[in-house]
Amino acid sequence: MKDRPLLMIPGPIEFDPEVILAMGRPATSHVAPGFIEQFGSALEMMREVWLATSGQPFIMSGSGTLAMDMAASNLVEEGDAVLVVSTGYFGERYAELLKRYGAVVTLLSSPPGEVPDVGEIEDELQRKKYKLLTFTHVDTSTAVKVNPEPIGRLGLKYETLIILDGVCSVAGEEIRQEAWGIDVVLTASQKAIGVPPGLALLVASQRAMETFLSRKTPVRNYYADWNNWLPVMESYEARKPYYFGTPAVSLISALCVSLSQILEEGMESRFRRHAAIGSAFRAACKGLALDQVPRSDTVAANTLSAPKYPEGISGAELLPQINKAGATLAGGLHPAIKDSYFRVGHMGAVTQGDLLATIGAIETGLLKCGYHFSAGAGINAAFKVLNSD
Ligand SMILES: *Cc1c(COP(=O)(O)O)cnc(C)c1O
Repeated sequence: MKDRPLLMIPGPIEFDPEVILAMGRPATSHVAPGFIEQFGSALEMMREVWLATSGQPFIMSGSGTLAMDMAASNLVEEGDAVLVVSTGYFGERYAELLKRYGAVVTLLSSPPGEVPDVGEIEDELQRKKYKLLTFTHVDTSTAVKVNPEPIGRLGLKYETLIILDGVCSVAGEEIRQEAWGIDVVLTASQKAIGVPPGLALLVASQRAMETFLSRKTPVRNYYADWNNWLPVMESYEARKPYYFGTPAVSLISALCVSLSQILEEGMESRFRRHAAIGSAFRAACKGLALDQVPRSDTVAANTLSAPKYPEGISGAELLPQINKAGATLAGGLHPAIKDSYFRVGHMGAVTQGDLLATIGAIETGLLKCGYHFSAGAGINAAFKVLNSD
């Protein structure tokens, strides 16, 4: 019998065995020819996954928050106006982070489960000149998704750099960085990219790199300063080593395997697969009569879902039962509604089997907690979506 439940949280996720195998090989020197090749090709593959042919990729040791920090510290100078479009926990975090670098932040936030109107964002850009706008593609605290395309258009129209926090979306949700005019798309290894935690990943547009190169003041973060890291990325891509800080060799080997798998699947199929899995899970929630945090399906993410607990059943009762039945899920994160919902990650290497097993575990947990529903209703609803056409 397998001795562990499925890990169905919004990162770390279930990893592909080949990726885990790469982590287990002996660590090599960071200047060994084999490693130089892996680092170089990982950088090249990032451009294909991000759909950003002329972008500048960065791979650094750290979590997603470091990727957010890297974008902010390299692009912001004291007194710069930044518009933070927030749909939850990570938008608020970005606002706090930006202030550390002297940004004058305007926060445009929406109630949990909703997304700000594009018209509202445009009004704000008309009212004041902003150097930068940040938004969270998929807010992991609410499972709400913002459509990046119109925001990219606004960035070009108002000459505002657009930063997309894609920690819970890159390699899962549809993102066309270059075509949509997004200047920075950032993420971390442990979510839809499918590599254990420890890498901060980012691709910057030419416009973002020009903004960085024309800075008048030094970058206020020593470790994240692109002056230190740009030569590293350029050298490894030219298949030459260059030292600033020791790269995470094992994680980068694993990244190389995972990016190859992602490209083998193909970005279009990958977007479609996540869309199918997302709508199947939402259908299961409806089958079980569980409300969800996102206001409607059109603003709901495909990489994770946020169902509400049924009346009278708490997370402290339900989540351990679901875990016992085979799936580890996450509790709520948005401070305003934290105790009213839970979160299920379904991204990356996740299979239809994993999804159905998870819904089965949720049904078992609900039964154990005395919830009244027609057993199998969730699984049936998901099965129908997964097997339509
Ligand atoms: C997970 C997450 C982060 C933070 O990433 P860490 O790796 O935990 O630092 C930031 N933004 C979003 C949208 C996330 O989902």
